[in-house]
Parts: sequence; C-alpha cells; structure tokens
Amino acid sequence: MNHHQPDLDTSPEVSDEIRKTTCYMCACRCGINVHMKDGKVKYIEGNRDHPINKGVLCAKGSAGIMQHYSPARLRAPMKRVGERGEGKFEEITWDEAFDIAAKRLGPIREKAPHKLAFFTGRDQSQSLTSFWAQQFGTPNYAAHGGFCSVNMAAAGIYTMGGAFWEFGVPDWDRTKMFMIFGVAEDHDSNPIKMGLSKLKERGAKIVGVNPIRTGYNAIADEWVGITPGTDGLFVLAMIHVLLKAGKVDLDYLMRYTNAPMLVNMDETSNEFGLLLRDLQGQFMVQDRVTGKPAAFDKKGVKPVFSGEITYQGTKYTPVFQLMTEKYLSDDYAPEAVADRCGISAETIHRLAAELAHVAFEQEITIDQPWTDWKGEKHETMTGRPVSFHAMRGISAHSNGFQTCRAIHLLQIILGSVEVPGGYRFKPPYPKPVEGHPTPHSSTTPGGPLNGPHLGFTRGPEDLALNASGTPVRIDKAFTWENPMSSHGMMHMVISNAHAGDPYKIDTLFMYMANMSWNSSMNSRGVMDMLTDKDENGDYVIPNIIYSDAYSSEMVAFADLILPDTTYLERHDCISLLDRPISEADAICDSIRWPVVEPDRDVRGFQSALIQLGSKLGLPGFVNENGSAKYADYADYIVNHERRPGVGPLAGFRNKDGSGKGRGEPNPEQLNKYIENGGFWKDHIPDEALFFKPWNKAYQDWAVERGIFDKPSPYLFSIYVEPMQKFRLAAMGKGELQPPDHLRAQLIEAMDPLPVWWAPYEEQGIDCEEYPLHALTQRPAAMYHSWGSQNAWLRQIHGTNPLYVSGEVWTKHRFNEGDWAYVTSHHGKIKVPVVRMDALNPNTVWTWNAIGKRKGAWALDENAPEATKGFLLNHLIHELLPPKGDGLRWSNSDPITGQAAWYDLRVKIEKAPAEDGVSQPETPAQASPVGQGPKDIAYGGEF
Ligand code: SF4
Repeated sequence: MNHHQPDLDTSPEVSDEIRKTTCYMCACRCGINVHMKDGKVKYIEGNRDHPINKGVLCAKGSAGIMQHYSPARLRAPMKRVGERGEGKFEEITWDEAFDIAAKRLGPIREKAPHKLAFFTGRDQSQSLTSFWAQQFGTPNYAAHGGFCSVNMAAAGIYTMGGAFWEFGVPDWDRTKMFMIFGVAEDHDSNPIKMGLSKLKERGAKIVGVNPIRTGYNAIADEWVGITPGTDGLFVLAMIHVLLKAGKVDLDYLMRYTNAPMLVNMDETSNEFGLLLRDLQGQFMVQDRVTGKPAAFDKKGVKPVFSGEITYQGTKYTPVFQLMTEKYLSDDYAPEAVADRCGISAETIHRLAAELAHVAFEQEITIDQPWTDWKGEKHETMTGRPVSFHAMRGISAHSNGFQTCRAIHLLQIILGSVEVPGGYRFKPPYPKPVEGHPTPHSSTTPGGPLNGPHLGFTRGPEDLALNASGTPVRIDKAFTWENPMSSHGMMHMVISNAHAGDPYKIDTLFMYMANMSWNSSMNSRGVMDMLTDKDENGDYVIPNIIYSDAYSSEMVAFADLILPDTTYLERHDCISLLDRPISEADAICDSIRWPVVEPDRDVRGFQSALIQLGSKLGLPGFVNENGSAKYADYADYIVNHERRPGVGPLAGFRNKDGSGKGRGEPNPEQLNKYIENGGFWKDHIPDEALFFKPWNKAYQDWAVERGIFDKPSPYLFSIYVEPMQKFRLAAMGKGELQPPDHLRAQLIEAMDPLPVWWAPYEEQGIDCEEYPLHALTQRPAAMYHSWGSQNAWLRQIHGTNPLYVSGEVWTKHRFNEGDWAYVTSHHGKIKVPVVRMDALNPNTVWTWNAIGKRKGAWALDENAPEATKGFLLNHLIHELLPPKGDGLRWSNSDPITGQAAWYDLRVKIEKAPAEDGVSQPETPAQASPVGQGPKDIAYGGEF
C-alpha cells in the first residue's frame, strides 16, 4: 500500500531580509536577527555570532515584535491640556516642543542651572545624558542606579575595582562551585542561563541563596532559603569558619590585596585608622626579615600579617590582623547567626567547608606564562574554582553596601577573583576607584558644570555640600547622610523637589522612569506631589518634561512629552564609555540601528536631546559659529570624541576601519558595525586573560585599546580606607564636620571592614506586629513594567498574586481563591493570595511591576493588570517610621543612599473576596493614545 505524504514546505521563506541589531526587551543586550518581510518585522531570533547570547533568545526577546507594534506607543510630541495626572494632551510638532522646552530651560541655564533636575531611568546612554547635563551646568543629574543596585556596583568598585554583571562574569567553563545570591531571572538574563547550563553539563555545584525558590534557584543543586536582609551575616559567618580553619589564600592576599598594609591604631591621631605610607605615598607593610616597615612593593619584602608594630611613636597593625579579630568574634559564629538567618549552623559550616574544599583541594592550573606588574614572571596561571554572582536582592537593603562588600571579601580571601575558575572582570573593568572621577557639583550660570556629576568620594572633601553645609544636589546625594552615593538618589528627587528641600526647582526632566507608579516608593504620595498646587494655584513642581516610548503611568503627569521610538527604530550604542557588552576574554561593544523607520512623529530620545542641546547652545553640542555640531545620535556616536581618538564606539575607528579602541572618527563606522552583526569584538591576548589588575600584558593591552591612558595596576581593598576618613570626621577629626545627629550613624556604617546591622525598617517598628518580610522579584518574562503592554507577554503575567508560605497559609486558614489585606507601617493593600512552599516561612512576595493603573499602557480599564494586579510600592515609604528623635530618616542604605525596597515588613490577614478587585483602586487616567484593540494579531492591526 502506497502512502502519499502531503506536499509540505517544511522551510517556508519567512523573511526577505535579516537585520542584525541589539535586543532591548531587558537590559541584557543580546544580539538579535530581525527578520523582515515586506518592510515589516516578521519575527526575531537570537544572533548566533553574538558574544552575549550566542543565538539564545528568551521569551521577552522573541516578543519584541509585539513591543514594536504595541498600541501603547506614543505617536507625536504632546503638551498637556488638562490637569496634571488626567492624561489629557494635544499633539504638537517637534519644533513647537523644542521651542517650549528651550524657552523654559534657556533662562534657567543663564540664571540658576540647578533649577533643572534631569534624571533618567533604565536607559543605556548615560555617557551621553550625563555629558548633556554637564554641559547644561546643572548639578542635578543621575540615572536609576540609586534605586536599583548601586550598593552592588559601589561596593564592588571600592573593594576590587568591579562588581557583578556588567563588570564581570564567573568563569563558567572552569568554575566548580557557584553561589548565586539574591537573584531571580532579572539582570544578566541569557548569559546566566547559558552559564548555568554549562555548570550543569560539567556537574559543578550550584547553590542558590534566596528567600524564594524560583528561576535560577529552582534549578540550583542546593537552595538556601535565607531570611531577607541577613545575607551579610550569613557570609560573615562563613568567613568566620574559613578563618578559624585557616582556609584562606595568604599568598593571594599578600600579593594582590591590602591585607598586609599597616593601620594606624592611635585613637588620638588625626590619622587613626588610615594606612601607613612612605614619603613617596607608597603603602607600607612590616617586613618579616627586618621587622621594620617597608614599602610593600620593595623587592624582597615579605610582609607580616599579624601583631603590632610601633613606628615613629605610633602603633600600627596589619589589616589582616584587624580582619581576623573582627570575624573570629563569637558574634559571627554560625551558631550565633543561624536563627537570625533562618539557616542552620550545620549548613553554614558545611557550605564554608565545601567552598574551602573546592578552592584549595581542586585548584586549576593553566600552562600559560605571564608577567606581573612588578616584572615577576610566572610559568602558569593557577586558580581556585569557586565563583559568585549577586544582584538586587542583596543590594536593596539598608545594609546592602556592607553585605555586597562581605560577598566580595569572601571571594577575595578564597583567592578566587581574576583567576582561572573564579570571578573574572570584563573590560573596561577592572578599574579601581582611582580610575573613576570624584563627584562634581560646582555650577556657573550660563556655563557647564565643573566636571562629571557622579563619581566615587575619597573623603569628606568630595561631598557635594555648600559652604554652609547644605546639600548642593536636589537628591542630597554625596552628603553626610549618604557619603558614597555614587549613582545619585533618583528616588528622593520628587519628594525633595516637592518639599523644596534643599531648594525649589523649576523643571523636572525625566526619561524612561515610571516615577508615578512602579519606580517610586509611596506611589500614591508621589502622584500627589506631582499634582500638588501652592497657594497661588501653581504646581509645586512647576514644570515637568518627560520622554517615553509608551503611554506609561508617568506620561499623564508631564506638561511636555517628547515621544521616544521603539528599540527597533533607533540608534543606540552600548559603549565602553558606559557599561558595554564585553566578555572576560574580549572587549566588545554594540549598536542599535533603525531596522524599521518610525511610522509616527517620534524621535529617539538621544537624538531629541542632542537637538535640544544645540538649540540651547550647549558647549559640546554646537560649533564655534553656533551651528549644530551633531545632526542626531548617529552623528554623535560616530564623531564625538571624549578624549582624542576615543569615542562612544571602540571598533572600526580610523578612516580605514583599522582602529581598535583608539583612532580618529570613521564616517563608515556604523555601517561597519551593521555589516559585522551590530557589534565589535576584540580578543584579549592569552597571556593577559587572568590576573588583569596585576598583569603587565593586560595593562599594556588596555592602554593600547584606550581603556586607560597609562597602566593602572592596583590592590584589592579588603580595608576601604576612604570609609575611615568619613568615620574620622564623625569622631570630630578634621575641618569638615558632619551634623551631630549623624555622627553615630557614620561611625557605625562607615566601617572600613564589612559589617552587618539589622535592616533599618525592622529596627524602627514592632516586628511582632509586622512579622513578615515582603519582597518583589522580576519574572523571566517581564522586565519591570516594560512588558505589560506586550500582547504575548501579558498572557504569561497578566496578574500577580501574593505568594505566601505554607506556614502563613495554614495559620490564616487561606483557601484557593482567597484574598488578603497586607499592611505595613505606611499603607494597606488588598491582594489575591497563592500558596508557595519553596519559600522562606517568614516571607511573602510577588512579581514586580505587573499591576497597572487604569487607563495606562492603552489597556482596557478592566484589564487584569488593573483589577487583580497590584504593587507593593503602596506599602513602602521613602522615609523610615519616626524614631522619636524628631527626625525622619531616609529609607536607604546610609552609605550609598540605595533605596531599601526589600526591608519592607508587613502583616497579613484574610480579606473578603467581594468584587475580586485589588486595592487601592487608583482612579483611571485618560489615555493619550486611546485604548488598544481587543485582539492583536500579526497582519491585523499592524
Ligand atoms: S535576555 Fe534580555 S536582551 Fe536577551 S533576548 Fe531576553 S530580553 Fe532580549
């Protein structure tokens, strides 16, 4: 009997052209192939040649097509015609929009540039936006880092010249034990998934430390369901065990860290707690042979690690001795911290022992000679194959900076940073604090700021304070309250501007930051601040300019809207001047380019910013004759030079495209990137692949590529000396003095060795009344609020229940379909609950930013996001509960000012299901783009 197979085309031609660019459905920056058919986006796949994702594409990435054709896209510049918050607008031309903006901003710049507050969200063009703000002359600029993960970034830079994600990567091919702290599937998405699968293939052990077992933690070999906010204590307890067992890499500590440096122990000295230096400014150690202090890098010097030495009448002790004294204290014994962390002492002992076993019994040696910065030759590269990754779950606590430091300290004492099998930096990192600017805030009416806004303070002299001691910046970054707020404090801008504290501003200019909804603590309060009027009937925050591609909740609160493009319609560069897409083995950067031309009257925000800059005559954006220096962002990307020969893109420089890192602008540069798949990559030489901070070949290569202008080797800082400088001031030493009410906080918080304290919110409330920790996580399929107008992704996460542990479920006699009131010291919400047993018993949690305001994102007012979805933000306040001292303290880390989202404590009780609608119900706002169609399908609406 003959079977006739139907004549199927198993490989139909799906596209007539492929355009290669960079995904922007999250901040991960994967390479994508955009398949075009008849001029429209047909589908998106991963670019197999791309260094970040090697062809892997996640659900978000493939759903980019629906992001591009979203009905929530803004269509044209708009000016407000209703009241703020209503969402009523009139479309205008770009010329009108620039006229309105320039008429307001021009006079501000001439008289009081600080009256402009310019803050951006999760964009990837901070090297441009910061340059623009600097040329405008306002001190009030920052991006979203202050409310995201500045603790992680700043702790990493101060400790070892780089942190996780954009700064470095585990050696996925060699590591044998990997610990991941406080990460769902958010930052660094595809690369971590790919890395984890490599570990699984090789049988390496994965330990997930997270109160919630989802995502990466769900596939971990061991899940440690820690109590939120206690990670620092857990890590310091492991350090206690390792020190007690003598399982530390002394040779590594001696060669590459400040462990042997001598600390001034004389409490009466103005240099108490600072490191001893010789006349040339070189750090000094006690030489084992002579017993005397000597420059640490002097040939033949072998440092002493313990004891005390008197030199010129002053007592000194090595950092290592201080460290061991501190962490060998019984306070850090596993038995002492177990209950608090929710982890048994046995588990802490065992994990520390496993780390030590892998690090010291399974070391890896690569036959690759290399030479260190002192000229010493090494025949091989030897490494300790344990590595870590951590992110926002660690950062977003009021003890986050020191917790991040503790994790780095653990990596360092194991000798597992920048070694085979360990944690490796990605160019332009490693880069020590000394390679970064200090913050600048000095204004001149009509002129630029005196330098970059954001940076790393080295001591009180770098604070942004007026002569009277008042904050220079509207967000109060770089003040005694938060001395190392390296990314600014965007979450404080609106409340400070509304309060006129430290001063009133004129214009709030924001980009891609949904501050009236999911990007703020106290969302309802922020909406009120944005709409509040003074006794004259004028808005308290007089003028708001906002740029977004979509009709987000924040749009309704602006007076002027500059509509952005989708990521497939724009030029972008993921630049070495910012945080590029490099790998540990290669320097890489990439672009986005308009694979589709906009069909609306929208412009890429960066182009609009450049055009506004020219209209305002900002230096750097106009030629000597006043004409525009750059037509748009593409022109800027190619022709802007930050230093001679160094521009936004490192690849294909010089007219012939031969320049790598350095070289004159090449008019064909963008075309070269497009031909190359949207990225550029240059391998690091083999002898420079590890030990980068101390490797001569790496340092020389980095200079050739324009990363540094001269070799910049440095030591890791177990002991962060700049912190002690703030402490000294708090002790009354030095000319610059903090206010008295901050002295105790500074002395406790600015400890140069990592330390732990209980999260501030739980210090200020009755924990028996609010017994539960409340968290959010980003799901794999949604990045903040970005995906909620995406027809495909909404089907995965259209609502967000509150997940509660089995213990809480049973205690409150919840049943399937139940609702609960959740109450904090600040607010009360009503939400649907779902049981989840893979959860720390004292924790409740939900997915981040799924809940939407009615009328926003072109959604139906009865969309599940607006009826069943909810935000925990309503429960969080930007200020801590009153302590009874007459002051309201910021809900932030006291070092960096990072928003302490995850310190939230709540209580929960059963609520009547009634109408099945979550509370609070925020009234609908009008949609400037109308409501999207009921059904969206390719070939239909678009
Ligand atoms: S991980 Fe992020 S950048 Fe990569 S494909 Fe997914 S959404 Fe795009």
